[in-house]
Amino acid sequence: MELSVTISSIFPLWGWNALLQAQIELRPLKSHEVVGRIINQEREMYRVVFFKNDHEGKALAQLSGKFRYEHSDLNLEYPGVGDWVICELHSNDEHAVIHEVLSRQSCFYRKEPGSGARAQIVAANVDVIFVAVSANQDFNLKRLDRYMSLAWESNASPVIVLTKADLAEDLKGLIAEVEDRHPAVPVHAVSALDPESLEPLKTHLLPGKTVVLLGSSGVGKSTLGNLLLEKEQIKTQGIREDDDKGKHTTTSRSLYQLPSGALLMDTPGMRELGLLDHREGFENLFDDILELATHCRFKDCQHQTEPGCAVQAALASEELEVGRWESFQNLERELRYFERKTNPEIAREERQKWKKITKSLRVRVKQKSRGEI
Ligand code: GDP
Ligand code: ZN
Repeated sequence: MELSVTISSIFPLWGWNALLQAQIELRPLKSHEVVGRIINQEREMYRVVFFKNDHEGKALAQLSGKFRYEHSDLNLEYPGVGDWVICELHSNDEHAVIHEVLSRQSCFYRKEPGSGARAQIVAANVDVIFVAVSANQDFNLKRLDRYMSLAWESNASPVIVLTKADLAEDLKGLIAEVEDRHPAVPVHAVSALDPESLEPLKTHLLPGKTVVLLGSSGVGKSTLGNLLLEKEQIKTQGIREDDDKGKHTTTSRSLYQLPSGALLMDTPGMRELGLLDHREGFENLFDDILELATHCRFKDCQHQTEPGCAVQAALASEELEVGRWESFQNLERELRYFERKTNPEIAREERQKWKKITKSLRVRVKQKSRGEI
């Protein structure tokens, strides 16, 4: 019991709250266990912030064998950044083994393209989501709607942030349009050139609340994040130099403590969610070709020389224009390049695809040399 009191009095810093506390009362910690929050993730290696004897520590953590055995990485059972976990410390508290994930109050996840049901947590236990759309000529109501539906689905509270207000032609009109479309959602217009304009955002940056920025690339999320962070970054560096001599001071780059006490979560996955934009746009643009491809004989048809390829058949009968097919291929290539750059899973898939292709080529060469084909 004493342990729980310690947790609840210190952890608000990292977003600990009554709902999490209740979970610990139902499943009290064993003497060797601590509660921690995942502040960084690289594949299945996690960084966890925890409290022990009133001191904050950070450890590198992995899932226990039992956890892996009992849970599936195919769905959302594996933890992600923002999750609260029960873990066991070892090697001087520098390493930890994760035994359990506490129930989340909200989450963003991503379905991995081309892998069926596989999904991955992008950000867990997010309280507030800033949906960033630029107020300049790039503004697009449909795109805002898409991001808003992601936000609602996550269970976090959305706030619409119109960025680059200085570039808006009719800011008042735009705000009215957005408010009309999404009533009951706060709308704020901000400009990086006018720090005062950020003030209203601070009403949402409450102590212990976790905030993420969602929006297409280029709308100004990093700029906004840095403006919200700046002071604190300078301060923490100062404190670290004085107080933390010699100790390992690996700072998280995924969960930042803002001066107000709110936590800004910045995960690469959150940035990737913006890709939905590109992928969806692409799929809308070429829905006829994607439909055609479902009639190919082979599910993994590359639409080159495979027998029974519906795309090649449509090209031959001129039902599908060659120019259109070429721009499909170019855009698809670009999109995959973009996704590969930002998504290790796709990079791995891609490598495996090429492995398979070179392997089958090798087999063909062998067969040919033996005179089999
Ligand atoms: P992100 O991809 O969403 O993180 O966008 P960035 O923060 O990298 O910003 C993209 C570009 O927009 C950069 O060149 C910024 O300098 C510019 N930018 C960001 N915020 C503003 C703003 O409020 N006004 C103007 N005029 N430019 C901005
Ligand atoms: Zn085909």
